[in-house]
Amino acid sequence: MAETSAPAKLDPAELIACPQCDALHRAEHLPEGTRARCVRCKTLLIVPRERSFLHVIALSFTGMILMIGAIFFPFLEISARGLTHESSIFGVAMAFSDGWLAPLAFAVLSMIVAIPVFRFLALIYTLWPLANGQPAWPHAALIFRLAEEAQPWAMAEIFIIGTAVALVKIAGLAQVSLGPAFWAFCVLIIVTTLKNSFVSKWVIWDEIEQK
Ligand SMILES: [Zn+2]
Repeated sequence: MAETSAPAKLDPAELIACPQCDALHRAEHLPEGTRARCVRCKTLLIVPRERSFLHVIALSFTGMILMIGAIFFPFLEISARGLTHESSIFGVAMAFSDGWLAPLAFAVLSMIVAIPVFRFLALIYTLWPLANGQPAWPHAALIFRLAEEAQPWAMAEIFIIGTAVALVKIAGLAQVSLGPAFWAFCVLIIVTTLKNSFVSKWVIWDEIEQK
């Protein structure tokens, strides 16, 4: 029965699902310089290769530099009754690194710093040789898969929204001013979103397998 109701044989590797609306499309190798969009919601599915790889690599480097600023520069400054306290994310994490809040500090640092940095590094590792027309480096497929699976755990943008909500609450009690690290984080989120819009998973997998 399964045989009669089965549709025409399709190789899953030739199918591409729209990341926005899940519409299935049959993937094709496009001529260099052309792009493919979802027929239903017009989300970009396939982007031109070499150039989009270079964009992703450049944005990943930008993201890592911003991340250094976001961790070590002052994040915010709180003053109340003549007392001023300035803190960076690294400083806060270190302050909680012993005691029963240590697991929380570790989880926050991994989700807003370690996982995003790992994803940037993994994309650079995967795409660098492909952008230069060389074969993929060893274990590129495994590293790219891990980076994709870690995506839901990268929570820099949720951290910024949470901080903004907390600031509204604190603003009534003390004077709060935002440091350069806060803005570095905001730019980092824009860079990450831009980078994600250039990543076409199907194209990357296709390139890894071909080379
Ligand atoms: Zn779609």
